[in-house]
Amino acid sequence: MGTGLVGIILLLTVSQCVLAAFCQSFFYHRYASHRHCTMSAGAERGFFILTWIALGPGYMTVWVYAVMHRLHHKHSDTDDDPHPAHLGIFGMLRGMVAANLAISQGKYAYLPGNEPIRDAVRRLPRWDWFERIAASYWMRAAWAFLYFGVYWVLGLGGWWYGLLVLNVFMGPIHGFAINYFGHFLGYRNHETNDTSTNIGSRILPYWMKVLLSLLLGGEEKHNNHHDKQGRPNFAHTADEVDTTFAAMRLLDRLGIIRLRPSPAS
Ligand SMILES: [Zn+2]
Ligand SMILES: [Zn+2]
Repeated sequence: MGTGLVGIILLLTVSQCVLAAFCQSFFYHRYASHRHCTMSAGAERGFFILTWIALGPGYMTVWVYAVMHRLHHKHSDTDDDPHPAHLGIFGMLRGMVAANLAISQGKYAYLPGNEPIRDAVRRLPRWDWFERIAASYWMRAAWAFLYFGVYWVLGLGGWWYGLLVLNVFMGPIHGFAINYFGHFLGYRNHETNDTSTNIGSRILPYWMKVLLSLLLGGEEKHNNHHDKQGRPNFAHTADEVDTTFAAMRLLDRLGIIRLRPSPAS
C-alpha cells in the first residue's frame, strides 16, 4: 500500500473531523440551541443535509440536541446534567445515552425558564421525515458500510481499518471531548458557577490554536461560552481563535445567514 493512499485517507479523515466539528458547533449548537443567527428555510435544509453528510452514522436529531444542550446549561455539574462530566467517563456516557433517549421519548417536561419543552420544540429547526431517516439504525449502518467499502476498494489493509472507528464515531467523539474535557482540562477566563474550562493553553503558538479550533469547532472555549451563552463569538480575548465564528461572519457577508447582534451576556 502506497504512502500516497494513506495520505489521502488521513486527509479525508481530518477533513471529516473539521467539517463535523463545524456542523456541530454552527448548526446544532449556535444556530439551533442558542439562535445566534437566522437563515432562510432553504438554507436551513441545506445545513440539515450538510450536517448529515458530515456526521454520517453519528447524526443526531437537531431538536433533541438543542433540548439536551439547554438542559446542560441549566443543570451543569449536577446529577440532572444530561452529560454529567463529574460522574467520570462512563457515568457521563451513560448519562448522555439516557438523556438522549428520555428527550426523544418526551420524558423531560421543562426547559430553563420553565418553558414547556413541547412548546419550545415547535420553534426549533425540524425536518421530521428527513431526520427520521437520517437518525435511523439502518441509515447509520449504511454509512458505516459505505466507509468500510471505501477502505476496502482502496485496498487499505490491517491496522488502517482502525481509522474507521474515528469515521463512524466522529460526532459522539466531538461531543464527548467538549463535554468531558471542557469541564476539567485547560484554563478559565470567567468565574462561572460550574467547572467549565477552555481546553488548551494560552501559551500555545497561534497556529496550534487555529488547528485546535478547526478540529473542535471553536467549542474548546467552553468556559467562555458557559459565561456568555448569548455571544456567538466564543473567543473572548485577543489571543483566542474561534474558526466557526469566522466562518459565520463569512456566511453573514455572503447573505446565507444573518448574525444576531451580540448581547453582553
Ligand atoms: Zn458545559
Ligand atoms: Zn451552549
